[in-house]
Amino acid sequence: MQATDFKNKKVMVFGWARSGKAAAQLLTKLGSQVTVVNGDEFDAQDATYRALLAADVALIGTDNSETLDSTYDYLIKNPGINYDHPLVQKAEKLNIPILTEVEVALSTFKGRLIAVTGSNGKTTTTSLIRDMLKADGQNVITAGNIGVPVSEVVFDLTQEDTLLLELSSFQLLGLPDIQPDIALITNIFSNHLDYHKTRANYVAAKFRITRNQNANQYLILNAEGQDTEKFKNETEAQVLEFSRTKQHFPVAFSDDNLIITDEIVMPTKDIKLVGPHNQENILAAVTVANLAGVSRLAIREVLKTFSGVAHRLQYLFTAGDVKYYNDSKATDIEATQTALDSFDCPTIWIGGGLERGDNLERLLPNLKNVKAVIAVGETQQKIVTLAREAGKPVIAVTDVEHAAPVAVQLASPGDVVLLSPAQASWDQYSSFEERGDNFVASLKETLNSRED
Ligand code: ADP
Repeated sequence: MQATDFKNKKVMVFGWARSGKAAAQLLTKLGSQVTVVNGDEFDAQDATYRALLAADVALIGTDNSETLDSTYDYLIKNPGINYDHPLVQKAEKLNIPILTEVEVALSTFKGRLIAVTGSNGKTTTTSLIRDMLKADGQNVITAGNIGVPVSEVVFDLTQEDTLLLELSSFQLLGLPDIQPDIALITNIFSNHLDYHKTRANYVAAKFRITRNQNANQYLILNAEGQDTEKFKNETEAQVLEFSRTKQHFPVAFSDDNLIITDEIVMPTKDIKLVGPHNQENILAAVTVANLAGVSRLAIREVLKTFSGVAHRLQYLFTAGDVKYYNDSKATDIEATQTALDSFDCPTIWIGGGLERGDNLERLLPNLKNVKAVIAVGETQQKIVTLAREAGKPVIAVTDVEHAAPVAVQLASPGDVVLLSPAQASWDQYSSFEERGDNFVASLKETLNSRED
């Protein structure tokens, strides 16, 4: 889409999160007649609310479907709002295009676009790519699922800049026209099926990242993926693959080295990130960075120092020869499987969280190095049952704050303590960040009081 597509158009923005605010502000700049609709009443003291009111934007504090009629040209929907919502259904019935904030923002951007999606590893890979481009001296802005809404930053970008987007499948559904110069799909697991209903829908949402790409553009795929062949057959873009086990791709691990087209970049022992999944994230990120012209020196510098994004199998510290890791972002079984498989030393594992009907027995094969289990949260009983089945000692406590002192007490030199819940945080916390932060705070308090 072009920025001019929004000029003098009647646009409804549905959802008043940070992205809704940014979209409403951008649309007024583009000359749209904007109405913002929100499920709850607006806070009259909110600065953006007041600014938009002053700019003649209509703000309606109810998401009744009656508010939408055929006079609207577009509906801009917050990605978290389901397509089942009556207001969204009405837009579909009236054939009003349903877009997201990112689509509006992209209509104004003329530089290089790199887009990252996948079930897991998006933030880690996006952060690696960002750091590599920056280390190479390129001007790159990250937006989307990571950091700020695109609408907030896009006005300041020029044709020389790179926009690096981390996109969830929810966001991709609202991006009919996205056409990245480089697109990356880290992997596709069967999570998020509560929203997408079937795996086919979920895969179709991910395919949108490449649907409009042409033969001058690139699609990077995980060679081990179940859908890789299908994507290769259906995309117009040039495909590059990566694999942790196969070595015939341009970027690979070979003989304990990271290589790019047969040239050694660095020995793997100098790479700071741990875990097999992070090796995949590294291969994916380096493939993108290499295509984006990043020097080997810059790639090397980043991989020597990058120790993980907060809450993602993040190494915290070593105390009493015990290594502590915070993987609060592991909100599904696959993430915790990979975390548990990342350590071959005795591990004290803290797991449990929001009950979503998952079959936690799938974790059974990954518990072989687990020395003791600490069960928390709504799925505590399921974790206890799992531990008993695996023949592991288990202690149940209410939450991660109480788990930290128990873990410190159970750990002996050479062990790893790992918070990797395998479940979302909303049973007890407002976010996985809050859960991880509380865990780290409680750990520090326990360790400090021991030293005293
Ligand atoms: P996303 O942004 O896609 O949620 P993150 O990089 O934030 O991904 O990582 C989320 C969780 O998924 C982490 O807890 C990590 O242990 C796990 N994870 C990261 N990368 C991968 C991968 N390539 N394969 C499987 N699991 C991964």
